[in-house]
Amino acid sequence: MPIQSINDLTLHFLKDIYYAERQILKALPKMAKAAQSEELKQGLMHHREETQGQVERLERVFDSLGKRAVGSTCEAIKGLIEECEELIEQTEVGPVRDAGLIACGQAVEHYEMARYGALIAWAEMAGNKDAVQLLNETLQQEKQADTLLNELALKTINQKAKAA
Ligand code: FE
Ligand code: FE
Ligand code: FE
Ligand code: ZN
Repeated sequence: MPIQSINDLTLHFLKDIYYAERQILKALPKMAKAAQSEELKQGLMHHREETQGQVERLERVFDSLGKRAVGSTCEAIKGLIEECEELIEQTEVGPVRDAGLIACGQAVEHYEMARYGALIAWAEMAGNKDAVQLLNETLQQEKQADTLLNELALKTINQKAKAA
């Protein structure tokens, strides 16, 4: 379908992030299982719970547009998750893998932040206050997840990986 307006763009990227969130939902438990650090495992599983809520919020955003919630393949998230899986294959349990998992996780969060940022700007322009609110709640969770991963790396895991 051709994309000829901001509304078309909004729907296009809503489908993209809806697909992405559902892939992330499946990837996070695999990442948590591969991690050694208890804090990292918990952080990843906590974000999985949040992601469940994010999927539901997106369904409400589709609703607010009078559209059915459908995903459309996001090649970017497929690639980011694939990189994460490759990292797991190429490392053993331990701080080096954990440091790599954090780097992969942050790439996912940054992708999401980029998508939600654009969607919020377009929803604001459209005067869709419900969508702005819903998308912003999720954006804040993505930012928090990114910050938590960053702090874990800088506080402990990178140093442990350096000593490995
Ligand atoms: Fe998310
Ligand atoms: Fe995408
Ligand atoms: Fe890459
Ligand atoms: Zn996320």
